[in-house]
Amino acid sequence: MSSASESLVRLKFWGTRGSIAVPGPETLRYGGNTTCIEVRADGEIIVLDAGSGIRPLGVALQKEFQSRPIRLSLLITHAHWDHIQGFPFFKPAYDSQNEIRVLGFDGAGATFREIMTEPMKSPFFPITMRELSARMDIHKLTEMKFSLGKVDVHAAFVNHPGVCAGYRIFTSAGSVAFLPDHEPYEFFLHSARGKQPSPERAKEIAADEQTALLQFLRGSDVLIVDSQYTDQEYKTHIGWGHGSISSAVTLALEAEIQTLLLFHHDPSHNDEMVDTMVESARELAMNSGTHLEVAGAQQGSEIVLEAKKIAAA
Ligand SMILES: [Zn+2]
Ligand SMILES: [Zn+2]
Repeated sequence: MSSASESLVRLKFWGTRGSIAVPGPETLRYGGNTTCIEVRADGEIIVLDAGSGIRPLGVALQKEFQSRPIRLSLLITHAHWDHIQGFPFFKPAYDSQNEIRVLGFDGAGATFREIMTEPMKSPFFPITMRELSARMDIHKLTEMKFSLGKVDVHAAFVNHPGVCAGYRIFTSAGSVAFLPDHEPYEFFLHSARGKQPSPERAKEIAADEQTALLQFLRGSDVLIVDSQYTDQEYKTHIGWGHGSISSAVTLALEAEIQTLLLFHHDPSHNDEMVDTMVESARELAMNSGTHLEVAGAQQGSEIVLEAKKIAAA
């Protein structure tokens, strides 16, 4: 690898789908694998979530590193299956020379360690976390700001059933915000961290949370955000924990984002449907009179932060 390519900050989408993997001819362009993004920045390999997309990432890493050790950090947003289910199939975890740090927050009713280890216990899986060969460090996050090497990471809890984090990754070539699962606060407030408040109080909390979220996101170069539903579909999915096309665009505009990547595609949406949704998001962005760039996250595509160009691999 040349020093020029080492200095690049690069994102690669290995899984873009929400809820469940849907491989097949109808999802070839946007992809069928669930959430997994690889970030290469400032000497670090940071993996965002371990949906089914982490399996092909593992294969690619092994091919790239051959007999050299792999050292990486895996940041988990939350415990839902589509964000952790690929982990037992991540081959680098089965090689004793590799070091894998897995970071995330305690969930609703489960510690972070339990979230990562319980699904690998019998009868769900034949190999436990403890039996993996790689040096595994399951690290429970307690701080909202931390570092992975030279890369600073900020975390925020978002609006989703249970406990769900979003991350903003500050690289030498700009920052990337990752909110794979998030429902707009203005329509529904998930109350994992306490009892359901009164409607008046809920409104106040939602407004405060929205202000804090905008502050968290403001000025990110890239925002990868939950836009699972069309605006029409969202009306019948309020409270399901996901966003819509217009909620994604509104959030990006309010937070002064440069590039918006629509993410967590609904398993029932084929490529043509996602194309239509991307088009309508672009129209909304254009009508706002700003320079917000909009694309649909495509499995296999890459973003190089310096050039801020989205190129299909
Ligand atoms: Zn999800
Ligand atoms: Zn979820």
